Amino acid sequence: MRRTDVVIIGSGFGGLAVAKRLAKSKIDTLLISATDEHLFQPLLYQVATGVLPTEEIAPNIGDVLESKESVSVARGYVTDIDVDRKVVTYRTDDGDEQVGYDRLVAAAGVAQGYFGHDEWADRTFSLKSLDDAVALRAHLLECFAAPADDAEAHTFVVVGGGATGVEIAGQIRELSTRHFTEVPAVVYLVEGAGDLLPVYGGKLSAFARKTLEKTGIEVLTDTFVTDIDGVEVTVRSGDEDRVLRAATIVWSAGVQATGLAGVLAEVTGCATDRAGRLLIDDDLTVGDRDDVFAIGDMTSLKGYPGQSPVAMQQGRHVADVIRGEKAAGTEFVYLDKGSMAVVNRHNAVVDAPFGIKLTGVLGWFTWLAVHLFYLVGFRNRVAAIASWFKAFAGRARPGFAQVAVAAPASESPRRPRGAERAA
Ligand SMILES: Cc1cc2nc3c(=O)[nH]c(=O)nc-3n(C[C@H](O)[C@H](O)[C@H](O)COP(=O)(O)OP(=O)(O)OC[C@H]3O[C@@H](n4cnc5c(N)ncnc54)[C@H](O)[C@@H]3O)c2cc1C
Repeated sequence: MRRTDVVIIGSGFGGLAVAKRLAKSKIDTLLISATDEHLFQPLLYQVATGVLPTEEIAPNIGDVLESKESVSVARGYVTDIDVDRKVVTYRTDDGDEQVGYDRLVAAAGVAQGYFGHDEWADRTFSLKSLDDAVALRAHLLECFAAPADDAEAHTFVVVGGGATGVEIAGQIRELSTRHFTEVPAVVYLVEGAGDLLPVYGGKLSAFARKTLEKTGIEVLTDTFVTDIDGVEVTVRSGDEDRVLRAATIVWSAGVQATGLAGVLAEVTGCATDRAGRLLIDDDLTVGDRDDVFAIGDMTSLKGYPGQSPVAMQQGRHVADVIRGEKAAGTEFVYLDKGSMAVVNRHNAVVDAPFGIKLTGVLGWFTWLAVHLFYLVGFRNRVAAIASWFKAFAGRARPGFAQVAVAAPASESPRRPRGAERAA
């Protein structure tokens, strides 16, 4: 059995940050990931709505780390961890493999949560993986191709008024106002809290709401989904129930830990929160182990948000401990550089440090600059600029070209997602 100094699980923001930092000290590292790509999740909604082609937000993780000689990459799904023998078992296309480690770093992210209604997963679209975005993109094209009087095909319900919900609702509406102008799009954005973008609050939440409502989106706050059945979504506000009929229901409310968090909790004695995320120690170690770390979305620590800067900073912290640049046991402290969300073309909200709050065009250009900076790879940045120019200065949607070439839409837009999967 192969042994290595460090095994990293996951090729997202956290895992990549660990790998890059460990490479500086040439520490022998194996990164195992269930997916081939390093996925830039914040731009998934742009793939789903045709703004960006898939490859611009999902470079191959092997290519990204190619120049790091001490880091190798394996495609596999980690199913078991033996913390006493220090062995990770992972499933590959050719069967189970094992690798021994000296230190283990888990960065396996989260899955979508459905508040106890797991059956809704098959009745809705979500935006967590590249496959999710590609499936929604093909479905949206079918809906916009349906006759204008097909009301269900042209009605879209987005559940969850956080950043992802706001972004996808804004873009779906924009598809009908700027791209498929011959057909309508009725868009509902459903949020349980009293306002959109609840973590921002105040002026920024109010701006997001006003901007979306101005474009014609119906924003339903203080409203909860109580049932999803085929094309019918039942929502409740106060004592009042209302049924919305839509061929497209996008779910972007709630998260739930993946199976790996459960495995780690069991073998290390680490407690979990209600979403199953690991309640890690201040130094990012897990349970009773000082050789096992967990970072990013799969963890819960001091209320830090489930955002990419947390995962990246935690990744660098763990790598520095492993490299001996920081003493073992050093507490992780998050440096909050702010959050931002796009509302629609030329409108974004930015909540920056020192109480700086930006809205509108200024927010949008700030968002653009920050996302360009963090996109991985020079070629991807140039390609993304070109695509954004075509989509936002012009009226093209470069990502939709991939649908026609790669996967011609064949199912009816009314078909629930579970049926598509079973087909
Ligand atoms: C639609 C969307 C929009 C977002 N927008 C923003 C934003 O605007 N700003 C922001 O800061 N954050 C945003 N986020 C959150 C941000 O993307 C996450 O905080 C970040 O990706 C967390 O990084 P991570 O490394 O913890 O997990 P992820 O990036 O999710 O990576 C998890 C990795 O683990 C792998 N994996 C999972 N299970 C296993 C297993 N058992 N074996 C092997 N590999 C496994 C997966 O394949 C993946 O490679 C958004 C998230 C989503 C979904």
